[in-house]
Amino acid sequence: MKHLKPFQPEDFLILAVDDLRKNLQLLIEILDKFGYGTTFALTGTQALERVKIAKPDLILLDLMMPEMNGLEVCKILKSDEITQDIPIIFLTASNEDNHLLQAFESGAVDYVIKPFKSPELLARVKIHLELKRTKDELKKAYEEMKIIASTDELTGIANRRTIFNIGQQEFERSQRYNAHFSLLMIDIDYFKIINDTYGHDIGDEALKMVVNTTLQCLRKVDHLGRLETQQEPSEKLGHLGRLGGEEFVVILPETPLEGATLAAKRVCHAVSQQGLQIQDKTVKITVSIGVSTFSHNDIRIDDVLKRADLALYEAKEKGRNQVAIMHNQ
Ligand code: GH3
Ligand code: MG
Ligand code: MG
Repeated sequence: MKHLKPFQPEDFLILAVDDLRKNLQLLIEILDKFGYGTTFALTGTQALERVKIAKPDLILLDLMMPEMNGLEVCKILKSDEITQDIPIIFLTASNEDNHLLQAFESGAVDYVIKPFKSPELLARVKIHLELKRTKDELKKAYEEMKIIASTDELTGIANRRTIFNIGQQEFERSQRYNAHFSLLMIDIDYFKIINDTYGHDIGDEALKMVVNTTLQCLRKVDHLGRLETQQEPSEKLGHLGRLGGEEFVVILPETPLEGATLAAKRVCHAVSQQGLQIQDKTVKITVSIGVSTFSHNDIRIDDVLKRADLALYEAKEKGRNQVAIMHNQ
């Protein structure tokens, strides 16, 4: 994990909320002097408005205020996805001890009893800002790890585990809702020769070319059969994943065997037309594709994969650069 930037108060904005101007002035003065960015509110309603506009990193919230008290403000902020992660420290008078439990229950991270000593206030503010920052970094690192763990490093598409998971979900959905999905198993022809002749790097380029060309073919076509251009990945017709080596799988939800065969032919043709530019010559790359479709007799996703694999084997046997189909019994 990356090292965190050193703690600098000016990187943070703190919202101070108190119905007494005098208290507020004192708070702002202490925070200001330490270097924090500050903003303030005199009522609960005003505080909620300030949070929306200023997006503070931490809130110092007076517990007792007329109209809307701190507990109510806290509950509202904690119930909103946008504001729920902002740490809230309550400011309470010593005779309000009985509300402290409620303060924590409403989502506060800490409290400071008035009249407070400024070093204590500053220490608590800093601790919670640092905690929040560490938590955010961890969350970010976790999201990054999830992406790394689910994608194939070379091509950026789903890796073996991810495409299996997608296939499993599609399988279960088809079983439950009497739906259909089909599957393409794609394998580059004579890939070993490509590697041996031009080197591993060119082999990798060939893998990327096959992936990009396949993704192009999986885009939705408009009513004239033209490929639509501006599309999100979710609008793709299917999911492409790398099984390993030079083998890929496409899962086509809601697609019968006929539709899947058309898609496979489109991929096969497009790859053979694309070619790979190596210095001044274009090397022809071809793929063989096996097509299978879900059957209600299947027990596991592996059964559908197995049929696509058998079809692929047939396509290879028949001379490669072609599509073979395995019909259900
Ligand atoms: P066929 O037409 O029967 O599929 O022949 P083929 O040569 O493609 O099949 P084979 O399975 O014998 O060879 C696959 C080769 O893929 C072997 C290996 O060197 C190569 N390979 C596997 N993973 C990678 C990779 O990530 N990058 C590169 N460049 N080559 C890879
Ligand atoms: Mg091969
Ligand atoms: Mg192979």
